[in-house]
Amino acid sequence: MVVGDVTTGTDVLIIGAGPGGYVAAIRAGQLDLDVTLVEKDIYGGTCLNHGCIPSKALISATDVAYDAGQAEHMGITADPAVDLEGMVDWKDEVVGQLTGGVERLCKANGVNLMKGRAEFTGENAVRVAHDGEGQGSETIEFEHAVIATGSRPMELPGLEFDGENVIDSRTALALDSVPAELVVVGAGYIGMELSSVFAKLGSEVTVVEALDGALPAYEDDIARVVTDRAEEVGVDFHFGESAREWVESGDGLTLRTENEAGDVSEFGAEKVLVAVGREPVTDTLSLDALGLEPDREGFLATDEYARTDLEHVFAVGDVAGEPMLAHKGMKEGEVAAEVIAGEPAALDSRAIPAAVFTDPEIGTVGLTEAEAEAEGFEPVTGEMPMRASGRALTLDETDGFVRIVADEPSGFVLGAQVVAPEASETIAELAFAVEMGATVEDIGATIHTHPTLGESVMEAAENAREKAIHTLNR
Ligand code: FAD
Ligand code: NAD
Repeated sequence: MVVGDVTTGTDVLIIGAGPGGYVAAIRAGQLDLDVTLVEKDIYGGTCLNHGCIPSKALISATDVAYDAGQAEHMGITADPAVDLEGMVDWKDEVVGQLTGGVERLCKANGVNLMKGRAEFTGENAVRVAHDGEGQGSETIEFEHAVIATGSRPMELPGLEFDGENVIDSRTALALDSVPAELVVVGAGYIGMELSSVFAKLGSEVTVVEALDGALPAYEDDIARVVTDRAEEVGVDFHFGESAREWVESGDGLTLRTENEAGDVSEFGAEKVLVAVGREPVTDTLSLDALGLEPDREGFLATDEYARTDLEHVFAVGDVAGEPMLAHKGMKEGEVAAEVIAGEPAALDSRAIPAAVFTDPEIGTVGLTEAEAEAEGFEPVTGEMPMRASGRALTLDETDGFVRIVADEPSGFVLGAQVVAPEASETIAELAFAVEMGATVEDIGATIHTHPTLGESVMEAAENAREKAIHTLNR
């Protein structure tokens, strides 16, 4: 069917069906708004198709094989063979189930789904170009718009992505064979999650990072635990090295880096994975036609209602700025839809949790001790080392700790840092504590199931009050 230049109307137009956009669409549908969701690619966005879900699937599958091969001390001898193509096929099945689910949920909630690339043509209109020859375009007039176009990987000059030698995380998550040698540029979220995956799969992995340590957004003692473990599984770190360019060499390539003193180093590789951050996708939307100007980095400023400088235009997810995390985008999507429907909604979370799916995982929420001090609190911390946790011992994963930061006079939980197995799950209880205004006494008084990793949260809370039972008190 050829779609000509027809014009249709909708109350709420949402551009981008990632976690920000599809949640906004479903919530708007639930609130009986007339909503149209435009997506140029596959439903689910970066998170479901090329980010959160595929990376976590590969991390889990790799650990099944790796852990089985490392369990001789538990009386298990195995030498699992990994077929990366098979692993990637399984990962794609997981992704397919979720993206199909997003489409079904949107339809079930009355969302009009439209495939195509949207671009603003006026204050209340977009043109949606349909892919494929003769497919044409159509104009949609809207009352409200929600921009949820997400982000893309940043390119380094001299290291542009070519899908073969220099790759981004999306390509890395879809490789059909394990590179013999992989250089990863950047020891941030992606670099730290994926370098261990490839090292466990058998690649010789080198990580080059411009700063003097991994995961600069996290405290040193947290980053240290996961860096040490990554080294144990074979990752070779080079800190203080900025990637500059690559050249072909023999049957592979050479990456050149430079340190602060200007010394150049070279690293041989089959492929280079560049993971140096992500940038918002706002430059393809013709925002000037709408009358909206992004900031210098391309982000759209929003208020607590997820509203941009324009009364009728909202921005959610990665385009609305840091932290660029799926759950932050989802909450913004929900709020935008409710505000449009006239509900009394606002973004009023006290803290947004974050998790890094390294080995062991990291989970954080709220303030660190230093941040609490800087904000004028009198912080007290409580810790529980994982080596003292019965459950961690039975899992054979005893690296790390749970740390709770509380305000000493009132006992209110201000934040927490967890580096431990399943920290991404454990942090949910602590996020709830911060959100509810719970005290360390509340957490300590809550009976936690034995033997679980969750008990470590209770012990850390009790440690802050000098009454932990299973670890020495301060
Ligand atoms: P996106 O998910 O990027 O979706 C935007 C959508 O908009 C896309 O589908 C795109 O095709 C569409 N679009 C863009 N322009 C147009 C247009 N003009 N017309 C129509 N459609 C358009 N976050 C976590 O919280 N936890 C994790 O474990 C995690 N792991 C990650 C792992 C990796 C490797 C990566 C890359 C990211 C990860 N993230 C994780 C971050 C997470 O993926 C993003 O924060 C999240 O996807 C942002 O959601 P969004 O809706 O803003 O945008
Ligand atoms: P990042 O910002 O986490 O880390 C980038 C790293 O690259 C930094 O440590 C930086 O110092 C380094 N760097 C920059 N330029 C360099 C150069 N020339 N040479 C060497 N090192 C250099 O970025 P990312 O890992 O690409 O991840 C992007 C975003 O995706 C994250 O900020 C996060 O929002 C999201 N993400 C989240 C998760 C999760 O929630 N578990 C997982 C993956 C990605």
